[in-house]
Amino acid sequence: MDADVPDPLLRLPDEQIAAAPGLSGDDLLEDVFTQVYDHVNLHAMAWPAADRDGNLVPPPGAHVLHDLAHVHDLAGEEDLMVNPRLGTVAVVPDLPECDFCYLPARYDARITIGERRVGANLCGDHYRVKGSGTLGASGDAYLMLRSEVPESVRLACNKIRAAQSEDPLF
Ligand SMILES: [Zn+2]
Repeated sequence: MDADVPDPLLRLPDEQIAAAPGLSGDDLLEDVFTQVYDHVNLHAMAWPAADRDGNLVPPPGAHVLHDLAHVHDLAGEEDLMVNPRLGTVAVVPDLPECDFCYLPARYDARITIGERRVGANLCGDHYRVKGSGTLGASGDAYLMLRSEVPESVRLACNKIRAAQSEDPLF
């Protein structure tokens, strides 16, 4: 790829996968798969939903670009597979309504009702009360409108799309 084309992925650290000696066939595959699975989980993203002053804030542009890369195939299949979605942010055309009031929901969150874990759309105030406060591995994601995608992310997307001979996304 052109050096001018941005890398859309927040990459996991490289790690050598070494299968246990003496394995073959399905046992070997199973061993390698388990190691890859553990590696991905070990580095699963847990991103604070609030800044140091306690204000709820969107995740950084790099998270937005990483997610858009998955949605729009902005990277190769293998790269996407070994650098899975972070789950911290989702770009949406409209914000759904909060499940607990009439305000627009900023979060697609996992909450506990009774003894059950369920998905819920939450506005900021209800996220503070019911959400985990952590985005990503928790199952909570910030909902970002297309119109709110930062300029730097739009530019990066469009450069990659141009290199792919595709129409710009923004
Ligand atoms: Zn609400």
